[in-house]
Amino acid sequence: MIFGRNKRKLNQEAFYLGKDQIEITHEYKHLGIDFYSHGHFEPSGKRRRIASMKALIATLRKEAVVGVTCWELKSHLFKALVLPTFTYGTEIWGGDLKNSHWKVFEKGMKIHMMSHVKVRSSTTYHILLAEFGELPMELYALKLTMGFQQRLAHLPSSRLVSQATSLSRLLAEQGFNTWHKSTTMWKASWGLSLWETHDNPTTSKITFNDIKEAFLAKEWNSFHLSGKKLDYLHLKDFLKYECELYLKQPLTPPQRKIIAAYRTSNHRLAIETGRWSTIPVSRDNRLCNFISYNVVENEAHFVLECPLYNSIRDKFQSLFENIVLGSLKSFFQLDHQVDISLYLTEATALRHSRELASLTPS
Ligand SMILES: [Zn+2]
Repeated sequence: MIFGRNKRKLNQEAFYLGKDQIEITHEYKHLGIDFYSHGHFEPSGKRRRIASMKALIATLRKEAVVGVTCWELKSHLFKALVLPTFTYGTEIWGGDLKNSHWKVFEKGMKIHMMSHVKVRSSTTYHILLAEFGELPMELYALKLTMGFQQRLAHLPSSRLVSQATSLSRLLAEQGFNTWHKSTTMWKASWGLSLWETHDNPTTSKITFNDIKEAFLAKEWNSFHLSGKKLDYLHLKDFLKYECELYLKQPLTPPQRKIIAAYRTSNHRLAIETGRWSTIPVSRDNRLCNFISYNVVENEAHFVLECPLYNSIRDKFQSLFENIVLGSLKSFFQLDHQVDISLYLTEATALRHSRELASLTPS
């Protein structure tokens, strides 16, 4: 294989081994990584994604057959069976992936989480990540690449791979798009810029925790930019970025589903349905139809305030006795997650029957 952009020119070359002409190829798999004569690695990443989706489907099937219901175990299986299939060789190809590629590549993680709580595919990926306390697959790929660079920095400069790295850096400094440039830019996109290099081997090592911190800082800012994510901040404690209680307790799938629904905008409250119409209803006008005065029907109104559900609240009194007044966050942090799911189920059923009654002509 000859690296270069001009395919026609490359086809004119001929090499011989003895009398036999050697075939010139435009792609070649070496140690499981696909190399292409054009020198870009983005197709290699795409192949890893396809392989990891196959691994995911096989894992989900096995989980269903065995009856795995615990998220901790599912998450463990994903990281042991699917993630390594995806991140294989990422040290080489990771930097060549654009932001838009990563968005598509994260689908595996999203499907994995969605299958556990049965939410709509339109659910915001980063809200799901926060619910499960998980991190994007890209961060695991970045971690591996970072580890590789750190190992490179400690190799004797006589090693071929060290010399290749130095050349890659040198060419990047002269403006060429090299591996060094793309990985450095990838890292910089996460606000991480202190790589260990031969010139500066004393630079403190970046740990996975540093990457996680960089991710959380970026997330925290992005959650202030969209309405749905901003609403979610009333539920999530970003300082305690971990799996939510209802995903840790042994709930049945429907119980898990209904709690997830109200935490991730997978319900039919006016605050959500107002987003669906061709001309979105302004937030202030997404009102509750079940009371005479004007109040926005959001999650807090439905769960804690709407008088329509007072009789159901009386049945689950213990849920409402010890929470911070009006705080949805403290409601969902209660230990009795089964009771929360039962309350939500009954209230949803009542709301549904009232909605139907209002649609049926009398
Ligand atoms: Zn109401």
